[in-house]
Amino acid sequence: MFQTTIHLKTSGEGDVIDITPFVSDAVVKSGADTGIVHLFVVGSTAALTTIEYEPGAMSDLRTALSRIAPADATYAHDDRWGDGNGRSHVRAAIIGPSLSIPFAEKRLLNGTWQQIVLCELDIRHARERSVLLTILP
Ligand code: ZN
Repeated sequence: MFQTTIHLKTSGEGDVIDITPFVSDAVVKSGADTGIVHLFVVGSTAALTTIEYEPGAMSDLRTALSRIAPADATYAHDDRWGDGNGRSHVRAAIIGPSLSIPFAEKRLLNGTWQQIVLCELDIRHARERSVLLTILP
C-alpha cells in the first residue's frame, strides 16, 4: 500500500480543479502496476467527482448545485452556527468526499473526457485543501 497527500489552494466557491495529473503521478510513484487508487478530500465543504473538464460542463455543474442547494435558501446549519455555509455542506454531501479509480500498467483507466476534479464549495476564499490518496495494488 502507498499513501500520499495532494495539497491544493482553491480560489473560492465554485472552483473546480483538475487533479488528474497529480493522481497519475502518484500511481507511477507508488510502483504498483495494477490496482485501485482511492481518493478522499479532508473537510465537509469540498467534494470529489469526475467530469469532462471544460468550461461548459463546469458552468452546468455550478448551475445544478445552485438549484439543488440555492444560495438564497434558509439553512438550519446557518441558523445554528452562523457561519453561512449551509449550502456548502449540503452540496458537498451530495457529491461526496471520495472516489476510487482503477489503474492498469501504471495508467489510470478513466475515460478520455473524464477528469478527476476537486470541487471547492465553501463560501470563503483561497482555502487550502488536502486530498489523501491511498493506492492499493
Ligand atoms: Zn459550516
